[in-house]
Amino acid sequence: MNERINKKDVCIIGAGPVGCYTASELAKKGFNVEVFEEHAEIGKPIACTGLVTESIKEIMQIKKEFLANEIKHAEIFCGNTSVKIKLNEYVLDRYKFDNYLAESAKDNGAKIFTSHRFIGLEKNEILIKPLNRRLKFNEDKVDGNVKRRMGGDVEKNAKKNDEKEMMRIKTQHLIGSDGPSSLIGKIINPEKQLKHYVGKQMTFKGNFEKDTINIFLGDICPNFFGWVVPESEETARVGVASEQPNQYFEMFANALIKKDIIKEKISLQAGPIPFFDSDYKVYKQLRIEKDDSNNNNTNYSQIESSQSANAYYYIVGDAAGHVKATTGGGIVPGLRCAKILAESIAEGNNYENEIKKVKRELKIHSMLRNLLNRFSEKDYLELLRSLDNNGVKNILEKHSRDSSIKLLTKLFFSEPRLAKFVLKAIW
Ligand SMILES: Cc1cc2nc3c(=O)[nH]c(=O)nc-3n(C[C@H](O)[C@H](O)[C@H](O)COP(=O)(O)OP(=O)(O)OC[C@H]3O[C@@H](n4cnc5c(N)ncnc54)[C@H](O)[C@@H]3O)c2cc1C
Repeated sequence: MNERINKKDVCIIGAGPVGCYTASELAKKGFNVEVFEEHAEIGKPIACTGLVTESIKEIMQIKKEFLANEIKHAEIFCGNTSVKIKLNEYVLDRYKFDNYLAESAKDNGAKIFTSHRFIGLEKNEILIKPLNRRLKFNEDKVDGNVKRRMGGDVEKNAKKNDEKEMMRIKTQHLIGSDGPSSLIGKIINPEKQLKHYVGKQMTFKGNFEKDTINIFLGDICPNFFGWVVPESEETARVGVASEQPNQYFEMFANALIKKDIIKEKISLQAGPIPFFDSDYKVYKQLRIEKDDSNNNNTNYSQIESSQSANAYYYIVGDAAGHVKATTGGGIVPGLRCAKILAESIAEGNNYENEIKKVKRELKIHSMLRNLLNRFSEKDYLELLRSLDNNGVKNILEKHSRDSSIKLLTKLFFSEPRLAKFVLKAIW
């Protein structure tokens, strides 16, 4: 049993990019940070295209060591019509990116425990279950036969883990960066659930323009889009997101095979993409008191004033639905909120208030997604024609979609025809 409580103790669930970055920022500020990740290896399995706008540079430096590719153009298709625009974006190698962030967190003093699953709260304690590591075997050749024996350290660890009892942790701050199926999100929002799409992606061999992403709008994937994001001239990440991902992925991949754009499948990745919901709470303060009538019981009361609280629960990243509904991009908004969360904890500020600006941006993306979901193929074609104008192209080149308010204001002034689409949606 592991029991301690200290105002500077932070327990983070989930070592995805957002959890690792939060851990790094808090450890840098002198907090005692422990991160628990259920998978045996950071960055695996991957379910992400890794495309990020230049806005990531406002949060951290882009390093060659985790970069898969640099993008300079996007070609947007609807039926046989297409428009090409310039942009500067990055394709991350998510395995390397997540591990880079995990190593930075460790360098700053955070501890990361893999193969440890958060399973819930009991009274005022966080329950963490150590999982058995996958056993590795060494192979010996004896008389021409292969004999398998367990690797020494792995064998010891597996036995140790078997014997370990459940960890019970008391902490001042519990952060859920536990992804789209967040348990901590459910604890903070027992009566609400985030809706989601499912993203289905495959890496394909084929012939690609290395610096150009292709986006396919319209009937090929209604209510979202299909994408081809090259890693190189020979391989690309090809996917769709939808409520029926299998059906649309099949249609999309077949269309690309027919056009001789993609050839051989390499690997499949899929996962939920949560929808942002501005009413989803990201923060809960609790006062935990001993119940005198029964020494084994603990009373929780949710309170308003931070002065008397002695436990704080937060969610961030996909766990909180910090995702752009227009594109499904969650890396930049998740990292932005992680930075704000670390500052809020360190300064004693209200996290919910501090992320209002990011939430406003995400709300605009949700409104745009609702608007786009009403588009017919004809509307998309008209939209593409409106985009095929030098003024609009210049704005799209200069302003990242991570600053949606600025981008939209500029677009509507430059091309008033675009406002027509908004009116149509409202009507
Ligand atoms: C197909 C697809 C393509 C995408 N493409 C892009 C893109 O191009 N650009 C972009 O910005 N975003 C993209 N996204 C979204 C992006 O992947 C997420 O927004 C991002 O991974 C969020 O990071 P996170 O750290 O919040 O969550 P995650 O990366 O989901 O990490 C959560 C971690 O928590 C761990 N965990 C969960 N539950 C527990 C538990 N109970 N105990 C311990 N550990 C737990 C998980 O194992 C995981 O490691 C895509 C998503 C999908 C599905």
